[in-house]
Amino acid sequence: MKNIERFHNKKVLVLGLAKSGLASAMVLNRVGAIVTVNDQKPIDENESAQNLQKQGIKVICGGHPISILDDHFDFIVKNPGIPYTNPLLVKAVELNIPIITEIELAYYLTDAEFIGITGSNGKTTTTTLIYEMLQVSNKHPLIAGNIGTVACEVAEKAQKENVIVTELSSFQLMGIQDFKPKVSVLLNIFDAHLDYHGTKEHYISAKSRIFENQTNEDSVVLNANDSVVLAAAQSTKAQKVLFSSASPLKEGAYVSDGHIYFNEEKIMPLNEVALPGVHNLENILAAVAVAKLIGSSNDAICHVLKTFTGVKHRLQYVTTINGRKFYNDSKATNILATQKAITAFEQPVILLAGGLDRGNSFDALLPQLKNVQSLVCFGQTANKLMDAGKSVGIETIKHVDNVEQAVKVAFEISNNGDIILLSPACASWDQYKTFEERGDIFIDAVHKLK
Ligand code: ADP
Repeated sequence: MKNIERFHNKKVLVLGLAKSGLASAMVLNRVGAIVTVNDQKPIDENESAQNLQKQGIKVICGGHPISILDDHFDFIVKNPGIPYTNPLLVKAVELNIPIITEIELAYYLTDAEFIGITGSNGKTTTTTLIYEMLQVSNKHPLIAGNIGTVACEVAEKAQKENVIVTELSSFQLMGIQDFKPKVSVLLNIFDAHLDYHGTKEHYISAKSRIFENQTNEDSVVLNANDSVVLAAAQSTKAQKVLFSSASPLKEGAYVSDGHIYFNEEKIMPLNEVALPGVHNLENILAAVAVAKLIGSSNDAICHVLKTFTGVKHRLQYVTTINGRKFYNDSKATNILATQKAITAFEQPVILLAGGLDRGNSFDALLPQLKNVQSLVCFGQTANKLMDAGKSVGIETIKHVDNVEQAVKVAFEISNNGDIILLSPACASWDQYKTFEERGDIFIDAVHKLK
């Protein structure tokens, strides 16, 4: 562990609990900071806050009163989901109190190098692929982020020889100061989270912070087919390493004559890769580039690519019943993800979609909907999606109450050889607590058909 003295007797406000706030509060307490936690949820319903209180940590619950700041904090660790428009944060900015997110804390806690992965879509898949490739290559990786443990907890335990592989959202990246990954990855940039960032420019600049502290001793892996990504990285000092699923490159990771290459070296035949979809090919090429930069062997890379069939809820193959293949892509919470999922299949697709209405139209999905055989819609956006389906001439369109019903109806209208795909193009919160819950309900309903 490096530099933990910097936290001794520092007064820190942890704003917003959830998983990362809880971890931050406990880690800071262990390294000698004087921690105050502030969370929206009232204390009698707030188990995490109660537990922290039992450990002697000061807890203020039930709102975010600005008067908390009278305590003169040295810095604030903010939950990534809390917007900077929160009045307490506005005041903190006025008072020049540094506001960081938990990833910055993680960075101060360890000598281990970081690999940071960001982008609108594909972060978890790419992070997992990189982790697996480094694991098989004995490079001592640790995984942190959405599907692993909170980064500051991982960092607290990491040794110098470890390499921490972590996915980073734009929200997390807005709260960095010194965070500097050895290798950063920018997969793609699409109009996402505009409700939080306001404009696409703000969103792009949040994503671009991943390479703002990198030097020419570090590397940045970039999608050569995404002009927004390339423009965002124009002024980086890091060594640029490109990947392209569309055409061969002089250097970097690419596909040529049916094989995956890195810097003109043949890695493996494409037809032996287990993960379906062009979008996953992008994730794979980004992962190959990182693994090669860190010194993975081709054998390790090939082993992972032959055996890795996807992360749960991301175009996850569930089962085949009477010749119908079921795929769970519940994590497709935006249009780009669903576009990619539909185009991953050559067989007829029955699409199960719908969910939270964020006010957007589905026009961007029309080109892919043309290739959908039947559509089963649910949730707040059901009517909008049905209209979109009608406009491209889909013959069978059904409106159902929920995912469970959607599975039954999809099965009834399907034929031998069809793909039945849950890829909602919307967040789940209108009907389900999380996209994981929605995906699990889909999987259960599919198994019940048997
Ligand atoms: P993230 O962690 O960025 O949300 P995931 O790996 O969890 O990304 O994938 C989320 C969804 O996005 C999946 O449902 C998948 O279909 C889609 N997706 C994955 N990778 C890409 C990509 N490179 N480009 C576009 N869509 C993608």
